[in-house]
Amino acid sequence: MLIVQKYGGTSMGSIERIRHVAERVLRTRAAGHQVVVTVSAMAGETDRLIKLASAISDREQPRELDVLLATGEQATAALLAMAITAAGGQAVSFLGHQIRIHTDSAFSRARIRQIEASALTQALERDQIPVIAGFQGTDAEGNITTLGRGGSDTTGVAVAAAIRADLCEICTDVNGVYTADPRICPDARLIPRVAYQEMLELASLGAKVLQIRSVEVASTYRVPVRVCSTFSEEAGTMVVSEDSAMEKVVVTGVSLDSNQARITVSGLPARPGIQAELFRPLGEAGVVVDMIVQIPPVDGRASLSFTVPLTDLRTARDRVDAAAQRLNAGPVLSDDDVAKVSIVGVGMRSHSGVAQRMFELLAQQQIDIMMISTSEIKVSCLVARRYGEVAVRVLHDGFRLAEAPAADPAAG
Ligand code: ASP
Ligand code: MG
Repeated sequence: MLIVQKYGGTSMGSIERIRHVAERVLRTRAAGHQVVVTVSAMAGETDRLIKLASAISDREQPRELDVLLATGEQATAALLAMAITAAGGQAVSFLGHQIRIHTDSAFSRARIRQIEASALTQALERDQIPVIAGFQGTDAEGNITTLGRGGSDTTGVAVAAAIRADLCEICTDVNGVYTADPRICPDARLIPRVAYQEMLELASLGAKVLQIRSVEVASTYRVPVRVCSTFSEEAGTMVVSEDSAMEKVVVTGVSLDSNQARITVSGLPARPGIQAELFRPLGEAGVVVDMIVQIPPVDGRASLSFTVPLTDLRTARDRVDAAAQRLNAGPVLSDDDVAKVSIVGVGMRSHSGVAQRMFELLAQQQIDIMMISTSEIKVSCLVARRYGEVAVRVLHDGFRLAEAPAADPAAG
């Protein structure tokens, strides 16, 4: 098989661990596979570099920040290549521009447009193990860009798509994807197989194992992804296309997102286009709006509540306050004491009563629901932040997620 292995920051966190990773790569090679590796910076390094930048100046300089942040992965790619070679293998490191990872020019959140696979295939033909610096690319002008926090997952999956690898392994410090965060739910269970769509929801809803963008790329190019631990031989979680066995499971996982804030605008004049005018400045500022609820107008004035990432609350408030004034709306309020708890599962499409059961379970614990949003395969409720973890446990218990789903008799 042709396998892309991505190693995260904890796996690259010390010289000892880098040596361990080198051994692991060589074991995969010795088992007869072709391997391409991509790495994150050493744990804590990207944060350290961000602090250095803000110590120099308050002014944001996105281009220079990306030049700085890309050094973290430059170091680990070289160190791992050295470690593999020292352990008897043959490795060669590559920076983003050397294998032509082309991105757009959105510094600090660039999207990969194209990867020219030729340098990698040539290295493989020479029987070398390519070790790619994750998280970085270059734009059309040759500027260094980075892919957003956690972006080396996306490097891994995008490289796997570009070279048509059979598998992309995300080697990390947890054993895989769980039915809930094991720190909140001690009886959370490892999910052996999860559908791309479910993983996408779980990742956007707060599960931090995979960068959201990496799941989008995996799903678009149908790259099978295995999330597994660098430090164990366990099988981990396969992220793959949906199959009929998955549809029988109504709820696959519960997640909690505490990075949420709610903004309410009241007294909005009820006329066509008002919502577009209110949200346009948020879109322009790159703020992602999530749950939206509008209260029907009374006397020609409506009110609208929505959530934004807590980390964007200040930017969002500035824009919304200005828009509300311009639109001649009433007062704007915000609440940062909220959390979003969600249940996810492709089986919801074909089962009824799921949302109702969720509401019932929360009601039994006297947990007030402030907002609700749904998609085909998830239900999210906004609750007071202090109830977030209790809500996860109640739902995990109530939907019996600690128990393995009954085996599918048709599968033999
Ligand atoms: N080093 C980057 C970060 O910390 C990218 C990554 O680890 O995936 O976000
Ligand atoms: Mg990561």
